[in-house]
Amino acid sequence: MQLPSSLLQSLQGLAGFDEQRFVNIHNSNTSVTSIRLNPAKSETVLRSFGERNVDCTPIPWTRNGYYLSERPSFTFDPLFHAGCYYVQEASSMFLEQVLKQSVALDQPLKILDLCAAPGGKSTHLQSLISPDSLLVSNEVIRQRVNILKDNMVKWGSSNVVVTNNDPKDFSKLKGYFDVIVVDAPCSGSGLFRRDEAAISEWSENNVVLCSQRQQRILADILPTLKDGGVLVYSTCSYSRQEDEDIADWLTTTFPLSNIPLNVNADWKIIEAVTTSGNKGYRFWPHLAKGEGFFLAAFKLNDGDTYKNKSKSAVKPLTKQLLPLVSSWAALANSELIQVNDKVYAWPSVLLDDFDVLLQHLKLIYSGTLLGELAHKKLIPDHALAMSKKVAESIVCADLGLPEAIAYLQKNTIENTGLSTGWQLARYNKQVLGWMNVLSNRINNYYPKELRILKQKINN
Ligand code: SAM
Repeated sequence: MQLPSSLLQSLQGLAGFDEQRFVNIHNSNTSVTSIRLNPAKSETVLRSFGERNVDCTPIPWTRNGYYLSERPSFTFDPLFHAGCYYVQEASSMFLEQVLKQSVALDQPLKILDLCAAPGGKSTHLQSLISPDSLLVSNEVIRQRVNILKDNMVKWGSSNVVVTNNDPKDFSKLKGYFDVIVVDAPCSGSGLFRRDEAAISEWSENNVVLCSQRQQRILADILPTLKDGGVLVYSTCSYSRQEDEDIADWLTTTFPLSNIPLNVNADWKIIEAVTTSGNKGYRFWPHLAKGEGFFLAAFKLNDGDTYKNKSKSAVKPLTKQLLPLVSSWAALANSELIQVNDKVYAWPSVLLDDFDVLLQHLKLIYSGTLLGELAHKKLIPDHALAMSKKVAESIVCADLGLPEAIAYLQKNTIENTGLSTGWQLARYNKQVLGWMNVLSNRINNYYPKELRILKQKINN
């Protein structure tokens, strides 16, 4: 692996940088595989890896993160598709420390993950916040927002809104958020070990362009942070212009004060003190076990407080249609909203917030999509199957591994004596999706766009 000499030159003098060890680790052919469990669906995951002789070792800075001793095929693991875990780079999970050390996570919070696709930080944030808290998971690029939505649906949460907006579009929400996470688009040097091809795209000029874009994104979104709110800024770049310099630009341009974090020395995360005395946290692959990452946190001292002046825009489901829905889902503490023929369950405590977001942003997904009304029936949606809202009375069909894979490939499944009607296909007690058992066949309702395309593990 030929690292750009201008990159190596620019890193001289940064806290924790050791050129020889840095080059060696990039050439060592070692890779780190890590996952983070979904606490709402985690029961069987570690045992299942154990049965495949994959050792899981806890990642010290996060509660549900594990290093795996080898990289198994995630595609052919039904638990991956059931949303029981997310495959995520270990350093990024340090986000948990910031949240735990700087906000009261048991309180109802409004959190924005501004640059959210494919959803690593958003699924993590969702697992950390209380059910009464709101997560707005935003991705500006249209082609990337679908994967974000799919990952949030798989996670099975109901307190999330997925949006597809430019940071500027949030301007009507002045002083709205308690926490904003900006995991900024960057020059990407921290991921060279994983993606060698990215080396050829790296240039000093791109680092400058990225740092200018990072400033624009931050300047656009900062007015939406409420007085006393927390801003988390992170990149997967090693370059000072995108890391320490942005931290200093933030505290010299806005009324922000840096939040220092307590970091256990055994974790080998480097505390980087900037020219203005701010503290950021650097992950070097020759020190901490993970990829390159930088994170710094700030508190806003003199911000706005949001005042809602808008009228409601939601259309509640009419009472007459309620019986079509009620047998499918546990609806306590939910409001039912109809958008065209689709019925969504929104958490009652977040109704006003979802309503405000609907008026100002481009909503791609919100709450839990229960299903679509057609011919005086509700056709249940995959999102309902993935959520904890699905009614307990629904019959479950437990599939073995070959049948579960066939189901996820959207292949035909034999009816081996199942009773007729809608059922939840499960593997290892975890729901994979819907199927409708007819007398002569089973209709497989696994979403076509999510199906496993490979037919065999090695092709
Ligand atoms: N937070 C994500 C996660 O943990 O899975 C990774 C985010 S990635 C580092 C940065 C994201 O910013 C990308 O999804 C990219 O599409 C998005 N992005 C690119 N340009 C942007 C812009 N001008 N404003 C906001 N986001 C942008």
